[in-house]
Amino acid sequence: MTTTVTLTGTGVPFPSAERAGPGVLVSHEEVHLQFDAGRSTLMRLTQAGIGAHQLAALFLTHLHSDHVSDVVDLAHTRWVQNHLHGTGPLPVVAADGHAPGFVERALTANAYDVEVRMRHVQEHPPEVAGNWFALPARATEVWRSPCGRVGVEAVRVRHEPVEQAVGYRITTPDGVVVVSGDTRVCEEVAALSEGADVVVHEACRSTALAEFVRDTPFETIFSYHADTVALGAMAQRVGVSHLVLTHLIPEPMSPEQEAEYEAEVRRGGFTGRVSVGRDLLTVTLPRDTATDDAQTGVDR
Ligand SMILES: [Zn+2]
Ligand SMILES: [Zn+2]
Repeated sequence: MTTTVTLTGTGVPFPSAERAGPGVLVSHEEVHLQFDAGRSTLMRLTQAGIGAHQLAALFLTHLHSDHVSDVVDLAHTRWVQNHLHGTGPLPVVAADGHAPGFVERALTANAYDVEVRMRHVQEHPPEVAGNWFALPARATEVWRSPCGRVGVEAVRVRHEPVEQAVGYRITTPDGVVVVSGDTRVCEEVAALSEGADVVVHEACRSTALAEFVRDTPFETIFSYHADTVALGAMAQRVGVSHLVLTHLIPEPMSPEQEAEYEAEVRRGGFTGRVSVGRDLLTVTLPRDTATDDAQTGVDR
């Protein structure tokens, strides 16, 4: 048995030809869980060999549009293909509050397409199976696979002024994976990451670029993202085995710029394994060194 963690997107709101919007696929055997669905998530899933019909659930970390812009495509494509696969509505798991309304509006975005397809081939309109949980101040289980072997906990993270932002901790028989979502370095994700095998964390070069962004809107934006140096310190303190950086602000445009991310995490004191994420970087649990060496992405 293995568990794989695949970055379906490492980008941010600014478009990139190389980086889809934020997203992480965690798969244990036939249980495929998608965390966030930013721009072009479905294309990356297809590249990874996973169709919309195969997702056991879509988890949302928060409702910044870069994390949810492909929800429409995922839900709608699953519906369009339902007569092929018969998998039914897409289960969506998110903190209660803004998510139910967002999902409802997303499903009506293609109202004319729904109407004309129902006249033609579809028997029912598209649906999602919403699983809305109360925002948890401490890690709380919010989902478990029918087989019982994969569990997902959620906790509130610190992305204010965004409300209802959460991170997730996924436990499979092969290990523990954490997905931070968007957050400053915070005690909630620190507790969630204790002893985790893989922590997929957003990363922002706030310290390095402090002078550059002073008195610009970027200074405000940086203030609710995770500084790479502080992240390295936190990951070391709680014993993270493998830190995978994603949602890279700013986008690294060369191997040298990717190396800066790792250098800053090291400056924070982290001595474990670091990967500076690229789209479709895949990490396998339990760790298989031979396989990992052949995988794409920057891994030091
Ligand atoms: Zn974001
Ligand atoms: Zn955000």
